[in-house]
Amino acid sequence: MGDTVRVSTSTPVAADAVLVGAADVARAAAEEDAPGLVGEHLGVEPDDDRVLTHLFATLDPAYRGWRWAVTLARAPRVRVATVDEIVLLPGEDALLAPDWVPWSERLRPGDLGIGDLLPTQADDPRLAPTFLTVDGDDDEREVAFELGLGRRRMLSFDGRVDAVERWYAGNNGPEAPIARAAPASCATCGFFLPLSGALRQAFGVCANEYAPDDGKAVSVDHGCGAHSEAVVVPASPSPPPPLIDEFGIDVVGGPFGHEPGSVGDSDNAEPFGHS
Ligand code: SF4
Repeated sequence: MGDTVRVSTSTPVAADAVLVGAADVARAAAEEDAPGLVGEHLGVEPDDDRVLTHLFATLDPAYRGWRWAVTLARAPRVRVATVDEIVLLPGEDALLAPDWVPWSERLRPGDLGIGDLLPTQADDPRLAPTFLTVDGDDDEREVAFELGLGRRRMLSFDGRVDAVERWYAGNNGPEAPIARAAPASCATCGFFLPLSGALRQAFGVCANEYAPDDGKAVSVDHGCGAHSEAVVVPASPSPPPPLIDEFGIDVVGGPFGHEPGSVGDSDNAEPFGHS
């Protein structure tokens, strides 16, 4: 055999001498499963009475640090080892995938795609059950919905605080670079539509299609360069008088003048035509 056998001392179960000496049986079983990929013998780990696992390095480059674990067992008063199980297990320096994280913890804002469904937990802290329910006919339900009633759950206090803090600290709050460079705040902008309810005093919706935040909730102290009063366009100046007058004419002699006759030009006290 020639392999150095190291017996793990981390378990109180005594290593079975017959099974410890059956490393060749374990190696042959591993070789049968993975021909050419079974390396040096790394040791044994007693599992139970007459049950023991031999460990071998793997030569598979894709599994660096992993070990072949061949479990042997024998029946009482039988000195023949039988192969129980062969598996490839990670060692201490094995390359492993990161720990699995549930999707609900992996989810990030913006991950939801078109057609995706995102269920909320029954005890989602952002939502609170509404205790006013509508049991009437369709017309009554429709009226209730128009009034904002009839939903099973609504934003809880925690959910509301979360939203306010998120909006205020984000790109739609007063500290956003575009707001710091704005000439005035949304509160004085004609495109600002205040929200209804308790958030009215702090937030509204931008309704300027040329603003980066069009259609988004913005704080009253947010702002941008598209503020309705940011730039007052001056009235168009009146055109200067023409340098060349192409409308007036001066008639001098020629066919449009008149030849001197019996009445002089200076004798014009009497009107022309009838007396
Ligand atoms: S146009 Fe600019 S200043 Fe006006 S509401 Fe929208 S984000 Fe605020």
